[in-house]
Amino acid sequence: MAASLDIARANPNAPPVSRTPVDVDKRLTVIGLTRTELADQFKATGVPEREVRMRASQIWRWVYNKGAKTFDEMTNVSKDLREQLAEQFTLARPEIVTEQISVDGTRKWLLRLAPDAWGARHEVETVYIPEENRGTLCVSSQVGCTLTCSFCHTGTQTLVRNLTAEEIVQQLIVARDQLGEWPAALAENPDAPAGGRFITNMVLMGMGEPLYNFDNVKAAMEIVCDNEGLSLSRRRITLSTSGVVPMIERCGEEIGVMLAISLHATRDEIRNQLVPLNKKYPIKQLLDACRAYPGLSNARRITFEYVMLKGVNDSPKHAKELVQLLRGIPAKVNLIPYNPWPGSPHECSEWDAIEAFAEIINRAGYSSPVRTPRGRDIMAACGQLKSASERLRAKAREQLERAPA
Ligand code: SAH
Ligand code: SF4
Repeated sequence: MAASLDIARANPNAPPVSRTPVDVDKRLTVIGLTRTELADQFKATGVPEREVRMRASQIWRWVYNKGAKTFDEMTNVSKDLREQLAEQFTLARPEIVTEQISVDGTRKWLLRLAPDAWGARHEVETVYIPEENRGTLCVSSQVGCTLTCSFCHTGTQTLVRNLTAEEIVQQLIVARDQLGEWPAALAENPDAPAGGRFITNMVLMGMGEPLYNFDNVKAAMEIVCDNEGLSLSRRRITLSTSGVVPMIERCGEEIGVMLAISLHATRDEIRNQLVPLNKKYPIKQLLDACRAYPGLSNARRITFEYVMLKGVNDSPKHAKELVQLLRGIPAKVNLIPYNPWPGSPHECSEWDAIEAFAEIINRAGYSSPVRTPRGRDIMAACGQLKSASERLRAKAREQLERAPA
């Protein structure tokens, strides 16, 4: 059984989603095409057959190793071909609407995407979280989310569409632009990290359910992991799912990234309330799919995310149940203090309760770090993301409703 985008809550007038929406200027974006797709495009646009592979590799390196923003910069490509390429392709990035920097160094970008085939311009958020020895980019996979987890701000955003592969890859490209992670900028930066990477890890934990956008996430990861391109290791990428059971095996087989499961409860009655998808794929099915996850081993554990909600799922009894449930699965547990958002229905557990919970999981032999909330002051922490456009629209609607007739 294949999972599909549940558009029940999406705008009924929204057009269908295409893999690569056409720019209004009709040029195709290079970013987001896989290497084979790029070569095929060059072939179709009249690049001589014997040059196709070489040209595709050349352009690929300019785009993904050097961060070229125009074809003009590609000095080892003939002027004629550069002009021809510029007529048919673009290297455009999404527009940065806002960049916010938290007191803890977390950065959040609100990106306005290129108009889709129907002229609509959607917005998504991408977050960069610097830590002592690494930096993690949290990437969105959808505009909004069709699921409605009770504790998640993104789930309240009704406007939903899948991101294309290029829109997923573009988030990493924009982050590298802004952080100065291309060779030219790094060479001038005395504080550049030793390995040349600010972004060492990536998590698909931004807006949206990545396993409801499987094909585009898969294509994007192929590009991001390409050894001659951005070259991010699949072991440094974690995909988080709320539990789309039928797609979990394919995720391991075809995308091959690390898996995180948003578990959040140990009993179906509670999980049904928190993660309504549980009614379709209950805990037992979900954990069976985890046990069968391709490539699972002690070196490649599944992360179980557990948001700490006061009086809901945070008692010592729940912690013991969690240990029982995870028995036999190479696992680690991420305890996430609940991040509130305006109008949210829950409260974060008391610190003592979180510590007691972590202690029980730890004693059972599982690593269970409590994730320090990052970027709360700029609403960049887990579950707080929601496009500002949607917030503004909601505000405008509210004002209209309040206005006297
Ligand atoms: N849709 C995917 C990935 C995005 S959510 C999923 O649900 O797994 C990324 C993580 O943030 C998930 O574990 C999610 O449960 C958690 N999260 C959502 N809202 C949160 C909140 N308000 N506070 C803390 N964590 C939250
Ligand atoms: Fe969607 Fe994940 Fe938020 Fe649930 S927690 S509403 S699946 S983004």
